[in-house]
Amino acid sequence: MEGAGVRLKRVFGYNEVPLLDPFLLLDDFHSANPDDYIAGFPWHPHRGIETVTYMLHGKVKHEDSIGNRGVIQNGDVQWMTAGSGIIHSEMPQQENGLLWGFQLWVNLPASNKMMTPRYQEIEKNQIPEILLENDVRIRIISGEFNGTTGPVTDIVVDPIYLDVSIPPNSPFKHKVKSGYTAFVYVIEGGGFFDVEKSQFVGSEHLVIFTDGDEIAIQTDKEPVHFLLISGKPIGEPIAWYGPIVMNTEEELKTAFREYQNGSFLKYQGGSER
Ligand code: FE
Repeated sequence: MEGAGVRLKRVFGYNEVPLLDPFLLLDDFHSANPDDYIAGFPWHPHRGIETVTYMLHGKVKHEDSIGNRGVIQNGDVQWMTAGSGIIHSEMPQQENGLLWGFQLWVNLPASNKMMTPRYQEIEKNQIPEILLENDVRIRIISGEFNGTTGPVTDIVVDPIYLDVSIPPNSPFKHKVKSGYTAFVYVIEGGGFFDVEKSQFVGSEHLVIFTDGDEIAIQTDKEPVHFLLISGKPIGEPIAWYGPIVMNTEEELKTAFREYQNGSFLKYQGGSER
């Protein structure tokens, strides 16, 4: 349970640090029962990280200290760089009886932790969708596939964020940069995520790849739908409490003291959309 009482599946988080560096947390909200999420995430601060919300079904109403307010609709992505500090609320709403979405937390290096907050709000129709000859479908949120680049750019950890669907009995390959962290979160169906096809991995499972420069995936009798995410590790100390992630305990104390005394927000003007 998180926020004011939202039931969610934490794919990875605090206890896995630093295994997925630069990624801190991945939550899967998936429910047909409004009681699981209707309380939402009322006003809370973030500092030192980016939060990435991607909706498959339903929507999230959001509002923040910078003066942004809007709705993340199904198929949309909001890449929020909290940087020096944002205070916001995130309230999920179902659509046709279902809420389904993901929130990824991406760390920022020390040199960027106090950067000016910003948003990249990407609507569904701005996200390129590629259909390969073998009916593999790829939505490119960030990074590049076959010469097409996703709309989320200029992110510090140089991320790849793809939503991929592979039909039965089909291969899929994607280049990643060696030395980068790469993982897959299986949303629906299942498949094999190594060349040897050593182990079938089904829905709601995380696959963490070892270092290399290419990911090879193969389906068998069923299709698979997954998120493929990669980024450059930061390799710095992590001091994490709740929604704030800094490098040192001292910086964490400062952040919470500032939140208490009203000096948390360093930037409250118009956003840099
Ligand atoms: Fe938040």
